[in-house]
Amino acid sequence: MTDYDVIVIGGGISGLMSALALSKHGKSVLVLEKNGSVGGNCNSYMVDGFQVDTGPHAITHLKVGPLRRLMDEYFTYVPVFLDYGTYYVRTEKGLTKIPSNIQDFVTFDVLPRKDRLLLSQALTKALTLNAFGMLDVNQSVYDFLPKGLSKDTLDFVDAIAPFLSGKSMKETSVNRVLYGSSFVRDSVSEDIFKDETVENNNSYTAMLSDMLSKYQLTSRLSTLGRLATNKVAYAQAYPRGGLKSFLNSVLYSMPANVSIKTGERVSEIITLNGETTGVATDTDSYTADAVVYSGFVKTLPSLVPLPSDFKENVSRIEQTLSLTIWHGLSEKMKEFDYIGSEVWFKNGAYWAMPISNYDPGIAPKGKQLVGFTFIIDDKKNIESEKKRALEIIINAVPEIENKIEMTHYQVTIPEKAAVTINGYFAGQRSPIANLYLVGTDTDNRSMGVTRAGYSILELLKVMKEDKNL
Ligand SMILES: Cc1cc2nc3c(=O)[nH]c(=O)nc-3n(C[C@H](O)[C@H](O)[C@H](O)COP(=O)(O)OP(=O)(O)OC[C@H]3O[C@@H](n4cnc5c(N)ncnc54)[C@H](O)[C@@H]3O)c2cc1C
Repeated sequence: MTDYDVIVIGGGISGLMSALALSKHGKSVLVLEKNGSVGGNCNSYMVDGFQVDTGPHAITHLKVGPLRRLMDEYFTYVPVFLDYGTYYVRTEKGLTKIPSNIQDFVTFDVLPRKDRLLLSQALTKALTLNAFGMLDVNQSVYDFLPKGLSKDTLDFVDAIAPFLSGKSMKETSVNRVLYGSSFVRDSVSEDIFKDETVENNNSYTAMLSDMLSKYQLTSRLSTLGRLATNKVAYAQAYPRGGLKSFLNSVLYSMPANVSIKTGERVSEIITLNGETTGVATDTDSYTADAVVYSGFVKTLPSLVPLPSDFKENVSRIEQTLSLTIWHGLSEKMKEFDYIGSEVWFKNGAYWAMPISNYDPGIAPKGKQLVGFTFIIDDKKNIESEKKRALEIIINAVPEIENKIEMTHYQVTIPEKAAVTINGYFAGQRSPIANLYLVGTDTDNRSMGVTRAGYSILELLKVMKEDKNL
């Protein structure tokens, strides 16, 4: 008799959504979180009267994606989602909508006319190749781009790439850009939780698979139609009340068969004859039939002995370091009078979101809160990176300098794995029986919280296959 059916290591959004789903399938679950509070990279907290999030967030793919499925199936409470708004690019001239489709490209005068034409041709080519299943998923954006583009255009593409993949355009695949910018959308079928009782080799199954492959072709062809109609912010939102509202909806939905212990770091995953039997923390130990690990897969080898080929693969996981600067402003600025986010790409890039525009309660009355995120070089001194980032903000919006009354820095790894061409993703099964993996380094679809959602749906699938669910 074990203490719990399942132990979940890590109380970030992946660990908590795993615990929620497993508990609703009747499992008794223990969540162990090393920090003093749960939430990990998905939370909000107060700084001098402003409620900052753990980085500016757009929650994506909410119509037919994994979070929709998880919320429909397991959440008792769901956040109120506010429409995300518009993605802009800021230049010295002000804000311009980031092109979502070919039509937008025509008027996107941030880049030279000739470049816009070349870029829209490249986009049409990529989508056509994708529609016919001929797009080389290993080709980088840089290699796919037509030759002869101006430096400004290359800088623009190179500023967007890290926000889609975590890395530069030389390490980001074209395929990734099509998915990240909503041209190609995968969905999660509504019957993923149903038992597959139909026999595999009967004619009904054959007919079904035939229909599916036709559907795949139809859906690929329909992406071509998005050349004219695509919206980058399609099905994206910000949770009213801030990012913590998403976390709270998971916590409020949690049934009584889940125990959460904070301040308990798992120091060892215990195994017997190639199977996990539980975990040891710095102060205690617990047994379980299965263990779900939601920390960095990169650090899994420090918790449990693993085969060398797995360790070698895991060492290939690439990560990106980010710096977010939150500026609390003494008054609302006309420069940030919009709902959505903006990208700056000249002599340094940022992604910024005036989050108090979604919900005035996030900032003190009459004030404004804006978050600016930068990709930083982990080999450089953090203090000099902060200084450089502040200079970029002032350069982009000089008027901000006199309005700043609060500055707060966050240095974080946004995703546990960047989606680079040669990067590794671990999947949900580990080499140890009944030890499973979830989180953004186990599935490469979509990004952030949505990617975490995909990993949980896959976890449920493999645990079911292993007769652990
Ligand atoms: C600047 C920034 C911008 C972002 N933008 C977006 C966005 O726009 N959209 C989006 O969807 N996502 C975005 N994200 C990403 C999103 O926040 C994360 O992908 C998500 O929160 C990750 O959740 P997780 O549970 O997988 O990982 P984490 O939040 O890292 O949680 C893992 C938890 O496990 C705990 N842990 C690890 N090891 C142990 C151990 N040995 N014992 C006990 N506990 C352990 C950690 O303390 C942590 O709490 C952004 C993140 C940042 C930082």
